[in-house]
Amino acid sequence: MAASTRIPFRQLLGRALRLRCPVCGDGRLFRGYLKMNDVCPDCGYVHAREGGYWLGAMYVNYGVVVAVSMAAHLVMTDSFQVPVTIQMAVLVPGAAALVLLFAPWARALWLALDLMFDPPKQEDHQRAVDRAKLVVNEDGEPVERT
Ligand SMILES: [Zn+2]
Repeated sequence: MAASTRIPFRQLLGRALRLRCPVCGDGRLFRGYLKMNDVCPDCGYVHAREGGYWLGAMYVNYGVVVAVSMAAHLVMTDSFQVPVTIQMAVLVPGAAALVLLFAPWARALWLALDLMFDPPKQEDHQRAVDRAKLVVNEDGEPVERT
């Protein structure tokens, strides 16, 4: 039995863009906007692999928002000669809104990136199987299946 189960990055990326579990591809990562399932409701895989795990998603979110804002700035400056004050009036609230809008995908992409470099290991699957004995309550927390 393999020590780890490598999932092709293309598959991880597709599952991330659809906000699905990176391991099984079926379970939803979120049960509401910004409300994440700690455990996959389908396969029981634990999404947060360690404490502080989602800090990396903030870097993904930051990078995407900066890239989009810079691209918008360059287009406004070079193509339309928009004054900087108007650009700031548009880009600052736009960037704040984009941070919130993109947050679920930032977490999903972070999870995909992490699993690409550190694939789920056999013990993670066993842990997932053990956790599959649990169910997710309405608050998204794992509880014993009755
Ligand atoms: Zn799953």
